[in-house]
Formats: sequence, C-alpha cells, structure tokens
Amino acid sequence: MNRITPQPGIMDIALYQGGASHVAGVENVIKLSSNENPFGPSPKAIEAVRNAAATLHRYPSTDHASLRAAIADVHGLDPDRIICGVGSDEIITFLCQAYAGPGDEVIHTEHGFAMYRISALAAGATPVEVAERDRVVDVDAILAGCTERTRLVFIANPANPTGTMIGEAEVARLADNLPDQTILVLDGAYAEYVEGFDAGRAIIDARENVVMTRTFSKLYGLGGMRVGWGYGSREIIDVLNRVRGPFNLSTPALAAAEAAIRDFDYVEYCRAENTKWRAWLAEALAEQGVPSDTSCANFILARFGSPDEAEACDAHLQSRGLIVRRVAGYKLPDALRITIGGEEACRRVAAAVAEFK
Ligand code: PMP
Repeated sequence: MNRITPQPGIMDIALYQGGASHVAGVENVIKLSSNENPFGPSPKAIEAVRNAAATLHRYPSTDHASLRAAIADVHGLDPDRIICGVGSDEIITFLCQAYAGPGDEVIHTEHGFAMYRISALAAGATPVEVAERDRVVDVDAILAGCTERTRLVFIANPANPTGTMIGEAEVARLADNLPDQTILVLDGAYAEYVEGFDAGRAIIDARENVVMTRTFSKLYGLGGMRVGWGYGSREIIDVLNRVRGPFNLSTPALAAAEAAIRDFDYVEYCRAENTKWRAWLAEALAEQGVPSDTSCANFILARFGSPDEAEACDAHLQSRGLIVRRVAGYKLPDALRITIGGEEACRRVAAAVAEFK
C-alpha cells in the first residue's frame, strides 16, 4: 500500500493553466492574458539588473534593507513595517502559513484571486468563499461569512478579474467589524493604476488587524523578476519574517525593483497610457455590444451573451494572434479578461471583436 500521500487539501488545488505566449501557426502574437505591462520595465531597472551581474557569486541581501528603504521613501512608510517577497504571491503564502492552519478558515470572495484559496489549502486551512454583489466585493456578505475560526480575509482592491473597487469607508467598515482573531488583507496588486490611491494605508495605520500586499509585477513591469511586498503592524511583519527564507529574493530582483520604484516619469507614463487605452477599448467593445464593468486596473472584463459566445470569441481572438484570459475558473464563463496592451494591441482586439461580431 502506498503510504506516501500529501496533506489533506493539497489535491484540491488545480494546476495552473495560464501563461501561454504562443499560438501554433500564428505570427505577431500579443499576450494579453496575465495583466503584464506592455511597455516592459523602466530602462533604469534593466540597467540595474545588468549591474547586479557583478555580484552574482554572493548571496543576496537577507534583510532587503535597501529596497525597503526605497519603498518606505516613495510611499512615506516605516521601513520596519515592510516585508519583501517573491511576488505578492509569497506574501499571501506567508500570511496563510503563519496565521492559518488545520481547523482555521480563510475567506475569499466569489471572484477573488486564485492564490488566496491555493495558499489556504496549502497551509492546511479551509478556504471559505463568500458571494459578491454584481461582481463587486460585498462587505456584508464577508461579515456574515465570518466565524470564530476565521483567521484571514482576502480582498483585492482593485479586484482581479473584475477590475472593480470598493471605497475606503467600506474597507474601514469591514476592518472594524471583523472578529478579534481575524486579519484583513488588502491586496493592492493593481493599486498603482488608481491615481492618488493609498491602497488602504490610512486604514492600516489606524488599526492592528489590517495588512496590505503590493507588487512590482504590474505597473512596474517586473513580473519576470518576482518582487512583491507587504505592509502592516510591526508585530505582523515580525511574524511573517519568521517564515520567510533568508535569501528569498535574488540580487537582480532587488536591484530592479529599487530602480523601478524611483523612476517616477516612467510610472506616470505607463499609468497614463493604461488609463487612455482602457477607456478607448471599453468604449470600442461596448459599441459592438460587448459591455464591461468600469475597470480601475490594467484589464477589462468583457462580457458576452453566453459562455459559448465567450469561448467562440476567445478562439477567434487567438486565430488573430491575441491571447486573452477565459475566466471560467473564476465562475465568469461568459467573460474574457483582456489586459490593456498599448495602442496596437487595443486596436487589434477591437478589430478582431468587430470581425467576430
Ligand atoms: N494579487 C492579485 C489580485 C493578482 O492579480 C496577482 C497577479 N496576477 C497577484 C496578487 C500576484 O502577483 P505577483 O505574485 O506577481 O506579485
């Protein structure tokens, strides 16, 4: 008898299916399925990676002091309340490892980002899904879903794959009404796309039970480097640092992130292009009878009449070299999530949808 079995819950985790960047037999493919920055990283980040080559024989910084100082400087935060991880995925993992185990519950919302459930299961905890209201996070449903076993509540603001947001008053109401033993995690992966948005920083500063996660994978164009960070109380950050490996981030990754966060002009350019072409694409698709919710992020969730229509349009877009994301796994089978590329990508998507229609 085979006695080598994984922990309970592990086999409930589906293997990741996305990530393709080629379509057999099609040229000039544009990948619009992972919410990446179409312009790539800041040239200063690329230069920093080149310079990092000189010290590749050394282990990287273990305390990430330089990157934390840069993040603290740019955002006006206390560097001792920041932790850096291998993408914000790793911060989500640390939170589940440190705070949720067998018998504990981890709340995510109906269309919430898949890593919340995966990390909860990997930690041996029980993921609990609560309903959204018209593809928007519903604070009352979350509060109704809490029990004395709820250890973590994850919401992304803006959310993926819907692109929707809830306001600061709603987030504060959620934080203030959670059970005592529950941490609220505000996932700000797309926060940079919202001009002037503090991603819940004021809420965190006024409370002990709220944490923020952020990433360099989206607006900063460094998905391939895998750098994210978290911000919370000194106590929580101290706990998370205990489960963090000493050398979790590579020297080039640390250098790239530090250069990217200080290149304000580039950040501004990428944000402005995204805002412009997101509005353009949403309108172009709406004119063809394909509506989308108002998106605050770097993608839109285009909604078709039926799952069959979404599937057929997906196939058509692929035949035109456009890879977008079906969100069936997110319980939105009639929708396609389309990353906002630059001008060429948006014009090609609009033309291909027009052909399809
Ligand atoms: N949170 C949300 C809502 C996301 O969409 C993503 C990336 N798809 C992440 C977190 C993780 O990003 P990363 O690990 O690259 O920081």
